[in-house]
Amino acid sequence: MDSTERHAAGTEHPTGSAGAGAADQQPDWPDPARLREVTERLAGAPPLVFPAECDRLRERLGAVARGEALLLQGGDCAETFAGATQESVEGKLRTLLQMAVVLSHGAALPVVKVGRMAGQFAKPRSRPVERQGSVELPVYRGDAVNGPGFTARDRTPAPERLGRMYEASATTLNLVRALTTGGFADLAQVHAWNRAFVAATPGSRRYERVADEITRALAFLRACGGDTRALATADFHVSHEGLLLDYERALTRTDPESGRTYATSGHLLWIGERTRRLDGPHVAFFSRIANPIAVKLGPSTTPDEVLRYVDLLDPDRQPGRLTFVVRMGAERIRDALPLLVEKAASEGAPVCWVSDPMHGNTFTGDDGRKTRRLDAVADELKGFVEVHRTLGTHAGGVHLELTGEDVTECLGGSHTIAPEMLSHRYESACDPRLNPAQALDLAFLLAEWYRD
Ligand code: PEP
Ligand code: MN
Repeated sequence: MDSTERHAAGTEHPTGSAGAGAADQQPDWPDPARLREVTERLAGAPPLVFPAECDRLRERLGAVARGEALLLQGGDCAETFAGATQESVEGKLRTLLQMAVVLSHGAALPVVKVGRMAGQFAKPRSRPVERQGSVELPVYRGDAVNGPGFTARDRTPAPERLGRMYEASATTLNLVRALTTGGFADLAQVHAWNRAFVAATPGSRRYERVADEITRALAFLRACGGDTRALATADFHVSHEGLLLDYERALTRTDPESGRTYATSGHLLWIGERTRRLDGPHVAFFSRIANPIAVKLGPSTTPDEVLRYVDLLDPDRQPGRLTFVVRMGAERIRDALPLLVEKAASEGAPVCWVSDPMHGNTFTGDDGRKTRRLDAVADELKGFVEVHRTLGTHAGGVHLELTGEDVTECLGGSHTIAPEMLSHRYESACDPRLNPAQALDLAFLLAEWYRD
């Protein structure tokens, strides 16, 4: 057995409750015996991440909660098994590192980097079935559950896929660990990539000023004897939505040293907008794990709910334990967010506030594809920063769906993606992602708002 110990399927709860009712958004697994076989195998498998790594991330997020750091979290809406490649992982990592340098310079704060990677294989859906003509089939729920093809065979949930999720997560984590410790990118290299982006970007004079300042700051750092090599890749962790409770329970382990139970499927797990029922099994499960955790908050969230999450999920008021990821939509953020932040602040809850400016701004274009306008995404993010500035609280960072490839899934940006271009490279398995140029556009904008 490893430095962690097998936890008896993670079903007991120190405070008793498993949560009321059936868990939301779970697949209709057709073969319970097969499911049990797979989860029993996973319960005996090595952990993917270790308690000390999760604790370290919680400490770093504590700095975000105190206003001393920013969180940058990003990756695919839905990872795919086929996407667990060096090229794909490297591309996302490169984009996140490039953004982090710009943000860190703008805010003059360290950036805690968290990939939406190595476990983001399951999706909640707004409808259980999809209809094409006269045929109706279960929706695609991510590679962890079923296949994307519109055939009965593909769409039937297959428990074996949970085993493949574990394997694809392990492959991805191996790449992440190798790239972040093996000298993939030092700060100077990341900045050189940013300079190349700025040079290739139409109308980028605003960015040039920032890029020049970073060049000078790096020269100053070197002149002082500073070493830029490890700086870019420090502080990289992985996260996913903790959606499939059969999988997550099978991968919980109790740390023999501390006696605390961790989800070992990823460093940080979050509860999605569709599964955050206060008395539900997801909240109950999350209350039992010691990882840093997050909850997505949509526009219907009330201040009292915010307090209930704090009481249930962070009873010890530990900075870095609980992050709220706000996804209201550009039109609602300025009205909906202040009451929530004020309520948490009045109770002294040491939470991180992070903006997901994407999920409240999704719409279906004329060609039937889901998309998002970069302008709307940027506006929600700006509103998020403004609200915190007005209240004197800390805009703790950003949670984005992005990829390292030049896809055409979101509209706008300085390398403009127009509606007729969406079909060129629309490859997302679920929601539309920012391409690297759009992600960097946002990073430069956000950096400006932080320094203003
Ligand atoms: C997501 O992050 O892909 C997602 C489904 O978000 P939300 O739960 O906020 O809708
Ligand atoms: Mn999504």
